[in-house]
Amino acid sequence: MKIYNTLTRKKQEFEPIDKTGEVRIYSCGPTVYNYAHIGNLRSYIFMDILRRTLEYDGYHLKHVMNITDVGHLVSDADEGEDKVEKAARQLKKDPMEITKVYTEAFFKDIEALNIEKPEIIAKATEHIPEMLEYVKKIIANGYAYETSKGIYFDISKLKHYGLLSDNKKEGQKAGARIEVDEEKKNPLDFAIWIKAPENHIMKWESPWGLSYPGWHLECSAMSNKYLGEVFDIHTGGVDHIPIHHENEIAQSIGANGKIPANYWVHGEFMLVDGGKMSKSLGNTYTLAQLEEKGYEPLAFRYFCLNTHYRNKLNFTFEGLTASQVALNRLREGIKAHKEGNEKIDQKEIESYKEEFKQAVNDDLNTPKALSILWNAIRNEKKSKDLLPLIEDFDKILALDLLTEKKENLVISEEVKDLLAKRKEARQNKDWKLSDELRDKIAELGYQVIDTKEGTTVEKIK
Ligand code: AMP
Ligand code: ZN
Repeated sequence: MKIYNTLTRKKQEFEPIDKTGEVRIYSCGPTVYNYAHIGNLRSYIFMDILRRTLEYDGYHLKHVMNITDVGHLVSDADEGEDKVEKAARQLKKDPMEITKVYTEAFFKDIEALNIEKPEIIAKATEHIPEMLEYVKKIIANGYAYETSKGIYFDISKLKHYGLLSDNKKEGQKAGARIEVDEEKKNPLDFAIWIKAPENHIMKWESPWGLSYPGWHLECSAMSNKYLGEVFDIHTGGVDHIPIHHENEIAQSIGANGKIPANYWVHGEFMLVDGGKMSKSLGNTYTLAQLEEKGYEPLAFRYFCLNTHYRNKLNFTFEGLTASQVALNRLREGIKAHKEGNEKIDQKEIESYKEEFKQAVNDDLNTPKALSILWNAIRNEKKSKDLLPLIEDFDKILALDLLTEKKENLVISEEVKDLLAKRKEARQNKDWKLSDELRDKIAELGYQVIDTKEGTTVEKIK
């Protein structure tokens, strides 16, 4: 398998550390203070494709994903409130109650998206002793110092800070945004252990009083515990490159003198309507919201797979509708093969398989893999011979291709009303309004189809 490594800035042949076929992976998991949005979920679909491709290639995985239930501050650069505590205060609930609800919701989402659960799920609050030990090790090696706020990592002790982004300059620009803290030795020094203010609920005894771990430290301590000082692959979204992952590397050098992972693989961001997803813009959709609009979670998975993980992906309901329609068509196409009795040459099947294998092993090229699936399904000969091949492809794509799903066409009054308005707009040649209404109907889960005979809708599910 070839994979793009942010550390070397190259697409590299993957060489595992262990020669018996085990691959050790660490993925930065969710901060459970809210429901995951579809951008977060895109990152976990990418993680799943990486997992499934390695498994397809015959490796055994030891994969750890953390659950951040304490220590992730509102700004990645260690400022502001703890995200979980802020949510707890706003909702007047106990932080642990909040994290339980959102952790469960997260696992429900990933299950609906056919994302395999990593072998080890590590909650930050269950690893406080290991984290404390890790901090002590960094201090003992001379890489950290105490201030009135906590224990800070001293980046000037490193030969080079910014190995992933090679962005010392950019980092310093980012540093300019960091509030000046007179007690810090360097602007980019970051907290590895934070002294808890009076009102902080989640806090633990430590040599520095009641306090809690920094988010970056959590990942270093937990990956070290389960995967050792150096493991194979570390994943996350591209937003982790400049701060979170640079700081994990710094901590690991401070504690063990080593870069913790050989391959650093990052998934690009999902945008909404060409821009950033943000709560204030009201465009942070959850998977449940897509389902309410009539889309199948796997249509969202298809939508993600249709773009390479290293490219930005712009979410629109039109795009999601097209993915749902494509998925429906794929399943219909497969049904024709299930019912077909023609013969397809084994050599032809092998060549599809070979192409597919090459695509996924070429830096997880899922758009190409999907196009190979389409080619196979469009084969003029309708044959059951294709079914094992489709089953094989679905080990990675995980779109439930062989499962028959019912399509039910129940048109709500709201959709009927919008269709009537659209008809009127078209009669008035108001194409802009007509398009807007088509998009509204798509948001409700129906694709409008204009034919000579008139307009019909197809349920996107
Ligand atoms: P968080 O719960 O904020 O720690 O984020 C969970 C994961 O989602 C991280 O790997 C982030 O890099 C990723 N992520 C956050 N926003 C987006 C986005 N818009 N598109 C893709 N991934 C994202
Ligand atoms: Zn992390």
